Amino acid sequence: MSSSTSSAPDLTAASRTAADLPHLWLPYTQMQTAPFPVEAVRTSCSRITLADGRELVDGVAAWWTACHGYSHPHIHEALIRQAERMPHVMFGGMVHEPAIRLAARLAAMLPGDLERVFFTDSGSVAMEVAIKMAVQYHINLGTTGRTKILSFRGGYHGDTLGMMSICDPEEGMHSLFAGVLPNQVLADLPVDADSLARLEALLAERGDSIAAMVTEPLVQGAGGMLFHDPEVLQRLRELCDRHGILLILDEIFTGFGRTGTMFACEQAGIVPDIVALSKALTGGTMALAATVARRHVFEAFLSDSAGHALMHGPTFMANPLACAVANASLDLFESEPRLEQIAAISAQLTRELEPCRTLPGMKDVRVLGAIGVVELESLENPDALRRAFVERGVWIRPFRNIVYLTPAFTITPEELTRLTAAIIDVLREGT
Ligand SMILES: *Cc1c(COP(=O)(O)O)cnc(C)c1O
Repeated sequence: MSSSTSSAPDLTAASRTAADLPHLWLPYTQMQTAPFPVEAVRTSCSRITLADGRELVDGVAAWWTACHGYSHPHIHEALIRQAERMPHVMFGGMVHEPAIRLAARLAAMLPGDLERVFFTDSGSVAMEVAIKMAVQYHINLGTTGRTKILSFRGGYHGDTLGMMSICDPEEGMHSLFAGVLPNQVLADLPVDADSLARLEALLAERGDSIAAMVTEPLVQGAGGMLFHDPEVLQRLRELCDRHGILLILDEIFTGFGRTGTMFACEQAGIVPDIVALSKALTGGTMALAATVARRHVFEAFLSDSAGHALMHGPTFMANPLACAVANASLDLFESEPRLEQIAAISAQLTRELEPCRTLPGMKDVRVLGAIGVVELESLENPDALRRAFVERGVWIRPFRNIVYLTPAFTITPEELTRLTAAIIDVLREGT
């Protein structure tokens, strides 16, 4: 290339970066170096159509939300019907049928007496509410000094400041934001005798300063799709009971079938005191989240004093459109064979990702429910990998050192094979 052409602005697709996009600021993106994003114009089932006419098979299901595939007609109809009737009302002093029905259905589906539903509009906020509930629970009962939250290395609970303080220190950028974030208590998940002994020692020393223990059950998602056994959750439940600590499970990623059961905690046979749900709650159509508390947690807020009430209330709380769509999503779990589909996806992922084990630089290949993970020793250039996937007609978003699939439960076997084959091809060529 001559010097005159290289100094001229060249805004062809290949050389543009995200910063060339006017006005928009993208998530988790170094705008100066990231490739210019692709533009989506239409979705259907597991397909995304781009503005240039290309069609991609989606391996991510819109950040783990679109569990029935995109644009399911039953969800679409529910949205249109609710939009005609009542798109939104405030939730202060006023309720509505879509929220009443959704809360009752969630309470019926969740284990034990998880039965009081507080609606919000994002996962991070649902978790903020869970933390507020837990801390105030102890205050309302007259217990003082329980102000800390214990969370685990590898955990992710959202991007708000409160959540950053309980995320993995690296994920939560604790060093960059030092002085801004409150100091919480961090531990390793008790996955073996050694880590269990360390957690027990920590609790013996500081257990009475801890209001709640928080974890994602079975899979730490954004922390790198790290799996642990159901027994780990049973240990946490037991330790919480012994030390008077509330157990909060963040089922925002794992809820609604992703790990093979409707909720991940079912596999451990335990009931948390508080659970947070979002992601697949509306089948990937509207922003909605829920924090669900057990009866004893709710009852700690009942008194003659306004000071004992839960002081939280997002403007768009329990948005009727979102609740109607979530009800339609739950209908589909009843009328279509989702858990069977998840089991079939699990078997196919296990079979088709197996050849990855022999690729150079491979660390681990693992599958749980409809989650397939290929973990590499390191991943030098995720942007280049992402581009290679788009060129092969698939939407797969590697991060950290992993390439993973979390497809819609309605994906066809042929589409799933396109995704797994693309991973094998791209990783083989890249290494
Ligand atoms: C995505 C996610 C969150 C945050 O949800 P947002 O809706 O993005 O705020 C919290 N916890 C887990 C486990 C998640 O996967």
